[in-house]
Amino acid sequence: ARTEPRPLWLGTSWKMTKTLAESRAYVEELGHTVVPEGVQAFLLPPLTSLHVVLDALPTGSPVLVGVQNAHWGPDGPMTGEVSMTQVRDAGAQVVEIGHSERRGLLGETDEMVAAKVAAALDAGLVPVLCVGEPWSVRSAGRADAYVADQVRSALADVDPDDVSRVVVAYEPVWAIGEGGRAAEPADVVGVLDAIRGAVADLAPGVRLRALLYGGSVTTENATDLLDLDLDGLFVGRAAWTAAGFTALLSLG
Ligand code: PGA
Repeated sequence: ARTEPRPLWLGTSWKMTKTLAESRAYVEELGHTVVPEGVQAFLLPPLTSLHVVLDALPTGSPVLVGVQNAHWGPDGPMTGEVSMTQVRDAGAQVVEIGHSERRGLLGETDEMVAAKVAAALDAGLVPVLCVGEPWSVRSAGRADAYVADQVRSALADVDPDDVSRVVVAYEPVWAIGEGGRAAEPADVVGVLDAIRGAVADLAPGVRLRALLYGGSVTTENATDLLDLDLDGLFVGRAAWTAAGFTALLSLG
């Protein structure tokens, strides 16, 4: 169980789903859903829907809104990309970095991930850094060391004080998406400790803003996962409807 009163982060990425109309309908259905006291909700629509989501949320909504990716570089010639400062200017408060679909399918490297974390912090965004091992690594018993290395590499260029602004989401690759299976709480404990250990080496005495779990989370398995020493959950499919997101928030 969480050891002290810290916000419980509950968020979703819509990944590459939803038209503008669907995005607006979701947020309108969410409407004035009361985000429980102590919950930090976040919503990461596709970039195309960012403005619609910000516009449809009630004024003063406590839900943080962000994007699923942005480029690390300064504004300039980088066709087809958007910068951290551009997404911040467009109203994003959060940026997801290093999701396994991007690392695995789009060739995003540890170096790119590290550059994005640094650029996100410079732009005043909250980075949600995704880490996680593939099944081959898990089955070889090397998950803890592999994920700790990902964290060390991603935070290598971050000022130790700024580590407290970073959210890390542990998302085992084999647990994500259709065909994935949620990790058992026992699978997660060692990796969470390894992540905290890596952070302690880089920034002694500094705590991450939050440490989350993601990968096939549902309202059914969420309670067991939240019994772990975790600051929250990062959810895909189970929160692709407003009803699903509302059910998730009610866990808070
Ligand atoms: P999922 O996705 O909940 O649909 O498995 C999780 C994620 O990719 O963050």
